[in-house]
Amino acid sequence: MKIILATSNRGKVREIAELFEGDEVIPFTEILGPLEIEETGESFGANALIKARTVFEKLGRDDAIVLSDDSGISVPALGGEPGIYSARYAGAGATDRANLEKLVAKLKERGLKETPAHYTAAVAVVAPGAEYLVHGWMHGKAIDTPRGEGGFGYDPIFIPEGYDRTLGELDPAIKRTISHRGRALALAKPIIGMLRSLYA
Ligand code: IMP
Repeated sequence: MKIILATSNRGKVREIAELFEGDEVIPFTEILGPLEIEETGESFGANALIKARTVFEKLGRDDAIVLSDDSGISVPALGGEPGIYSARYAGAGATDRANLEKLVAKLKERGLKETPAHYTAAVAVVAPGAEYLVHGWMHGKAIDTPRGEGGFGYDPIFIPEGYDRTLGELDPAIKRTISHRGRALALAKPIIGMLRSLYA
């Protein structure tokens, strides 16, 4: 069965496809081409719903299952920054690298060598006549010196609780089991299964 992803972020597409092994997981851009979706919501959940609804409406199909992920990292010592602005922390269209560098600069500016931080993922599933929203979190700490090449985004400065390595250094299989996205997708999986049985 096809699950259309309302994201074209390669890091997210890779992690979601790994979790839905056996299903065809397609980024919406492969069907609709480039499409700017304005994230005007004030929470991860609101933005996840905006993205999934927009793609579902544009597809205009009565058998589509659209899944979106809106996620980011929050640092309480920085008033929750970057939070829902994680993707555009260094400005609209900023690269992952520029966003990471801005967060590192802020941590250094405040003399925060390490400080509690958490990732949030809101996953929305939109299908004909149905909308679902689930969340997952991963707690840990942010450090002011990036380590490791794995993962994406802010992973080189995030150390999950119970570990001493960053997500940039840890095996991706470990990230899958403990991550905000992994947890939210574990909740979304039975929803997808139920929708799949309705359309079979
Ligand atoms: P979104 O695509 O608007 O949801 O933005 C997500 C932002 O949060 C991007 O800047 C990502 O780099 C960052 N982000 C979300 N999840 C992760 C993750 O698992 N690792 C690293 N960065 C993440």
